[in-house]
Amino acid sequence: MLGLALVMAFVSLPADWQGGIRSIYPVVVLIVGLVLGWRFHRSRLLLALGVLALCHRALTHLAGLDPAALDARALQHGIAILLPINLALLALSAERGVFTLRGLHRMVVIGLQAGFLLLVHRYPTTRMMGPMAHALADMPTPLLHMPVVALLAFGGALAAMLYGFTRHHSATESGFFWALLIAMIAVWPPASEVARAAGLATAGLTLVLSLVEVSYGMAFRDELTGLPGRRALQEALIQLTGNYTIAMVDIDHFKKFNDRFGHDVGDQVLKMVAARLGRIRGGGKAFRYGGEEFTVLFPGKDLTHALEHLDTTRAEIADMDFAIRSPGRPRKKPDTPRRSRRKPRRTRITVSAGAAERNNRNSGPEDVLRASDKALYRAKQAGRNQVCK
Ligand code: GH3
Ligand code: MG
Ligand code: MG
Repeated sequence: MLGLALVMAFVSLPADWQGGIRSIYPVVVLIVGLVLGWRFHRSRLLLALGVLALCHRALTHLAGLDPAALDARALQHGIAILLPINLALLALSAERGVFTLRGLHRMVVIGLQAGFLLLVHRYPTTRMMGPMAHALADMPTPLLHMPVVALLAFGGALAAMLYGFTRHHSATESGFFWALLIAMIAVWPPASEVARAAGLATAGLTLVLSLVEVSYGMAFRDELTGLPGRRALQEALIQLTGNYTIAMVDIDHFKKFNDRFGHDVGDQVLKMVAARLGRIRGGGKAFRYGGEEFTVLFPGKDLTHALEHLDTTRAEIADMDFAIRSPGRPRKKPDTPRRSRRKPRRTRITVSAGAAERNNRNSGPEDVLRASDKALYRAKQAGRNQVCK
């Protein structure tokens, strides 16, 4: 997207293309983004698009002013400082709904900033706004024609977003990061009108695409375990060609485990087993099939190879030690904790697995999956905590 924005901004495209980028592109992105944000209840996307649209409006207005004039410089610098700060705050804040008190509160804060810039720009010589207009306009611009405060705001905002991304690894965070980087093209003072529209609209498009990516991820990923879910498995099964092995893995006596320790503890254990299966080696890829059952695909691998890696993982899961905190323990810390605290109970869990490979009898993925399910049944019958073929 950054490449696309740079091409649109700096390659001399035919005049009618430039006209389209200036007038149609930002409007289309804004409409698509507003509709998607509203339909999916993404207040951060809606507000970020609002911020970008306000910037676009102000920068378009700026194009008709003398760039050396006090009001133009004040407006230009004000935008360059406030844009990164607002995008960073939106990127790092939690999703709070659009028409909630917090959503409205954010809208008011953004509106106040827009009002402030409007006043500074309209009345740069009055007693009230004059000092602020001068403070903004007279900022030194040692690098890239940008005020130092704006460069610091951009740097700080990008660093904060990068930090957010390393913590959550979500497409939303990376979307905000790239959107801000792209929006910088528009805020750069010598940028042409086409470059400004291209920068801001592509920044908006990046945010919209990150929403699409997040939604796609949600549809294909299992929420509890983080593994790819059933839908992703169906896709992967279709793509299997040549030789491959499919395994079904099922937690042993999980119903009893839930009955004994509670559903929440069951969920935690499910997550840990899933995490271990997700790290299986030998080219295996794990999916949550449903409930406490998982499927592992080994594209291009034969049964012997898969059995070896499945058994390693089975043994590692059987060795995992779970500390179960007693549900009856006091909520407040007792005064003499060491003596009175009960030791957490420790428990273990095992899994059984069945695997089958593609052959003349089982020629399609559905057949192989069925055969691996039968093999799993044999593993259960044979006493569990084992891998059967
Ligand atoms: P087996 O060794 O024969 O597989 O016995 P099992 O008890 O594991 O098998 P069964 O299929 O009878 O029970 C599966 C249990 O898994 C039922 C349900 O309580 C539990 N389970 C399924 N999905 C979840 C989940 O998402 N969270 C939790 N905590 N439990 C789940
Ligand atoms: Mg089961
Ligand atoms: Mg089970």
